[in-house]
Amino acid sequence: MGKKDIDWGNLRFSYMKTDQRYVSNYKDGEWDQGRMTEDANVVMSECAGVLQYSQSCFEGLKAYTTEDGRIITFRPDLNAERMENSAISLQMPVFPKKRFLDAVDQVIAANVAYLPPYGFGATFYLRPYMFGSNPVIGVKPADEYQFRIFGIPVGPYFQGGAKPITVKICDYDRAAPHGTGHIKVGLNYAMSLYTMSLGHEKVYEEKMYLDAATRTKVEESGGANFLFVTKDNLIVTPKSNTILPSITRRSAMYLAKSYLGLETEEREIYVEELEEFEECGLCGTATVIAPVGKIVDHGREICLPSGMEKMGPITKKLYDTLTGIQFGTLEAPQGWIHEIKVK
Ligand SMILES: *Cc1c(COP(=O)(O)O)cnc(C)c1O
Repeated sequence: MGKKDIDWGNLRFSYMKTDQRYVSNYKDGEWDQGRMTEDANVVMSECAGVLQYSQSCFEGLKAYTTEDGRIITFRPDLNAERMENSAISLQMPVFPKKRFLDAVDQVIAANVAYLPPYGFGATFYLRPYMFGSNPVIGVKPADEYQFRIFGIPVGPYFQGGAKPITVKICDYDRAAPHGTGHIKVGLNYAMSLYTMSLGHEKVYEEKMYLDAATRTKVEESGGANFLFVTKDNLIVTPKSNTILPSITRRSAMYLAKSYLGLETEEREIYVEELEEFEECGLCGTATVIAPVGKIVDHGREICLPSGMEKMGPITKKLYDTLTGIQFGTLEAPQGWIHEIKVK
């Protein structure tokens, strides 16, 4: 199939209208059959539950073109399962896992012309999401919902690719104890827009949120989990009930252990101990593993020994292993890669 005339090497992480998207509606207690549509607009009541009380959740995953031209997704079952948890937490109906996986494949197959070829580091980002669509004015869950998936070709999330970034410890909290920090919902992002605007930060800078209860422990950034490397090459990641369980981070931890023979640990990480780490990375589907070179704690600057020029050696190994699997050059653990057959 022919490809669109796109500058694959210079894609950003931004929206582009592609040809087809998937949509399914929930009404009278059940999901309809679902279909592909060319219509990129959503029309709904001015009083829709999502517009009034933010009843919505989403996912993010990528499709990759391998060197030998196969099209694959990376652990899409985990996205389906996580969306199920998000939906349940916000009193939304679950979109069945099997149908979720099938819809992802349909969107990829219908937009093959937008799938970046191998070799540009570019990918096809899929955005499944669901929202309450019927009028809701007294606070309660909606009765009707829409589930959609669109896909867009994307380049690296951070301009400059693998260059280390600076993160700032944030004075605002992302998620309350026993709140919604563990689910993937837009409402966790809305508040971060204000903190992003503070001090006219450069776009590549990310926030480090602390635990809201004590403000002494590392949580995550707005849209990615942290991992740290100790002097003894131990990979450490924050243990917390109020962070989103990143599939990238969980995968990286597994690969560190089983592919690279490194020890890993999930535990509480205190701001006080940040100085002791050798390397730091941000993990997410969009970011992959972005190296952090510096952490700014108000007046105090914590410079990671790996520096501001390139990825630390362990982060680099993890990055290469993960992306090797995602682009099909390294053999994946059983069940991690799903191939989409395109006619
Ligand atoms: C999506 C997301 C992540 C990254 O999760 P992945 O599954 O690795 O993409 C991390 N934190 C938050 C808050 C997120 O929404």
